[in-house]
Amino acid sequence: MVELLHRASGYADVLARICAAAQACGRDADDIQLVAVSKMQPWEAIEPVLAAGQRVFGENRVQEAMSRWGGLTENLTLHLIGPLQTNKAEDAVAFFDVIETLDRERLAKAIADQMAKQGRRPRLYVQVNTGEEPQKAGVTPADADAFIGRCRNCYGLTVEGLMCIPPAGEPAGPHFALLAKIAERNGLSKLSMGMSGDFETAIRFGATSVRVGSAVFGERANL
Ligand SMILES: *Cc1c(COP(=O)(O)O)cnc(C)c1O
Repeated sequence: MVELLHRASGYADVLARICAAAQACGRDADDIQLVAVSKMQPWEAIEPVLAAGQRVFGENRVQEAMSRWGGLTENLTLHLIGPLQTNKAEDAVAFFDVIETLDRERLAKAIADQMAKQGRRPRLYVQVNTGEEPQKAGVTPADADAFIGRCRNCYGLTVEGLMCIPPAGEPAGPHFALLAKIAERNGLSKLSMGMSGDFETAIRFGATSVRVGSAVFGERANL
């Protein structure tokens, strides 16, 4: 066990930092879910974290996630945090418990169709491109309210919360604040925001889940 904890020291450290960040702003750490981002990590890095008790993992590619976790999904909660192509909606609905990257009408329709067909209802987050970066997925802040409304009213989808990835090299706080504001005016209480470099800031701005990869597992292989 000591050996396991030692091998999962990044994990233990991140859990402690989540608790400290919650306490520092008067929040309950139990209200903040760690999504351990296992994309591109070797199994040797993941295994000790699993052994230490983590059960919620994030992946950004459908195929990679299915090959990594395919035989093990029982008792795990898997989040899709990367862009989803419409033609992968069938696999994504079948495999993931949470899809965090709903960001366009065609995808909303594809997910709704697959939910009806498969009788599965993964939880859904709408991704907002808070920095309005052309290369980044997500609805613009200006389109967010209308898009959330269409997800609900045209496709019968239950949106659980919002997700964002602030622009690299900018202070993340204003982006987290914007996401929280959009969520509030749309009656959404869940906010997926914060990564290795900024999860403590995200907690201060109300994150209910943080997606942390390299701080938990170590640097990813540079592919
Ligand atoms: C890779 C990734 C993360 C984790 O990034 P780290 O900096 O390693 O913590 C979080 N969210 C998304 C959407 C990602 O693609």
